[in-house]
Parts: sequence; C-alpha cells; structure tokens
Amino acid sequence: MTETAADTLPSSGADDAPEDVVEVDDLRMRYGSTDVLTGVGFTARRGEVLALLGPNGAGKTTTIEILEGFRARSSGTVRVLGTDPISGGEAWRSRVGIVLQSWRDHGRWRVRQLLEHLARFYVPYGDPERDRPRETGALLEAVGLAEQAEHRIQTLSGGQRRRLDVAIGILGRPELLFLDEPTAGFDPEARRDFHDLVHRLADEEETTILLTTHDLDEAEKLADRILILAGGGIVADGSAEQLAQRVESNSEVKWTRGGQRFVHSAPDGTAFVRELFEQYGTEVSDLEVRRATLEDVYMDLVHRHESGQAEGAAAAAAEFAEGER
Ligand code: ADP
Repeated sequence: MTETAADTLPSSGADDAPEDVVEVDDLRMRYGSTDVLTGVGFTARRGEVLALLGPNGAGKTTTIEILEGFRARSSGTVRVLGTDPISGGEAWRSRVGIVLQSWRDHGRWRVRQLLEHLARFYVPYGDPERDRPRETGALLEAVGLAEQAEHRIQTLSGGQRRRLDVAIGILGRPELLFLDEPTAGFDPEARRDFHDLVHRLADEEETTILLTTHDLDEAEKLADRILILAGGGIVADGSAEQLAQRVESNSEVKWTRGGQRFVHSAPDGTAFVRELFEQYGTEVSDLEVRRATLEDVYMDLVHRHESGQAEGAAAAAAEFAEGER
C-alpha cells in the first residue's frame, strides 16, 4: 500500500442516502421442511463494518445471498439500500459490490486489462460522487497490485488473486460491499494491507461492509460490530468488547501462592484481584489477568445453542441489544 493510495479513495457525498443501508427484520428461510433461518433481524448503518459469524450450516451464506438478491426468502422484511433485493434492478446492483471466491477465468488476461474490461460494464445510477468506475491505476494502487498490473492473472499468488477479487468488487465504488472469507490464504503482510484497505473504504468513503469469516481474530480487528448467527437467529450483536462483557466469568485470574499455581474465573477481575491482595498481600506472585476474548464469547454462545439453550442465548442477546441501544 503506498502513501498516495488514500488519495484514490475520495469521500462520498451521498448525504441523502438512507441511514440504514441494510435492514433485516424477522427473516425466515425454509428449505423443504427444514427451517434454517427462524427470525433473523439486524441493521447496518452507512460506513459500518459488520462481521457475520456462526458455525457451519448456521445460514450465513443463505442470509448473505438473500441480501445480495440471489436467493428468495420464505418470509420477513429485507431492505438493502432502501430496496427489496429480490426486485433490485441494474441501478441497485451497481451500488452493491460482491467479492465472491477467486476469479478463476481469464487466466491469460493481464490484471490491468481485466479491470479495464470490467469497468466498461459499469451502469450509471445517478450519484455524482460515485457514478463512475474507479480509474484503473488508482484501483491497482489501492489494492496493492500496481506492480502486477501487466502480469497474467494465472501467475498471481493466492493473496494477489484475492486482492484482484476485491479490486473487481470495489471497481464500481459500491455503497455496500459483501466480502466472503476475504483473507483466506493471505500471508500476514497481505492481511494487514487488506485490513487497512477495508478500514479506508469504511472510514473515508463510508462504504458499508458485510463480511463473513471463520477467523475470529480477523472479525475482531476489522468489524465495528459482530453478529453471531446460531440456531436460526442472531444470538449476539455488538462490538467485540461488548460481546466479551457478556461472558459471565469474563476474567480469568491466575496467581502463585506458597509455591502453588491457582486459576479462578471471576465476573469482575479487578474486584477479585483487590480481594486477593487484601487477603494474601505479598504472598501473591506471578499474577495474570486475562479478559474474555471474542473466541470465549463465540464458544460460549455456540455451545449454549448446541446444548439446547438457544432460546436462553437469544433472549440474552435481545436483552443485551436492548441495553446497548
Ligand atoms: P453457512 O453459510 O452458515 O455454513 P448455509 O446458509 O450454507 O450455512 O446453509 C444453512 C443450511 O441450509 C445448511 O444445513 C444447508 O445444508 C442448508 N441449505 C443451504 N442451501 C440449501 C438449498 N439450496 N437447499 C436445501 N438446503 C440448503
């Protein structure tokens, strides 16, 4: 990523756009006699980065495909950029960017050539700030592929190909971008660059980004809000920090006393440590306090769901969401 890359991403002037870019209420999906989604609800605001997490088979792909307009739902309300995706026309589609799995065709094409070719398919829709495809040179800079501009696509590494996928996804300056497992197979540096790009798209262009990932660390680093889908509904919705506070024993305290190592899970780590020192003072050594992580929350919720406590988890999530808004 170069110093000048930010210049290529001017901010949007779409002030008259609706506040909620995505609105989902009581979304239900049934395949045959199997209910996969039984009342999904959430909203995404302009410029927000949301990560949708959940175990395999939870219905993430189904939800995303419904939002993208590729799948008809059984029932419920869905609005994406103010439109029901199932009836979204070409102009609506040009405001939405989708990064699917890697671009496998056109292996003999050169990177720049493909982007220039795709830019010709751009459909104008009337927003003066966004109503033109990105200039290819600037786009190559933004995704860190400037040096590979004249390379054939089949010679790119996995990470470079993924960046090309993203370049294709953001070519039309979408207001909403769907990213499916965006950094699978990236090396750490490519991942960091990619995270920078996502943050710039969200912060400088107010692009709303909805990503799915299996990588909790990535979700924590990238997302303003994390949605956990389990048991047919959203069982948690909040920042990683807000979610971590939901784990009952959200701090793990470890210490040594009298040559023995102790571990204790406490709802309030600070209060527990204070008590510990009041009671044992200088006998306590090697103190470690670990706050609950997103992984703890995720495992807790998914486990609660799997052991038949989904209703409790959903009720807790609703209560939590109520308290946070
Ligand atoms: P995820 O992306 O969270 O892994 P999916 O949305 O792919 O979940 O799938 C959710 C459930 O719906 C799975 O049990 C899957 O087998 C089922 N499913 C997905 N698509 C179809 C389909 N077209 N017909 C029938 N069942 C489907």
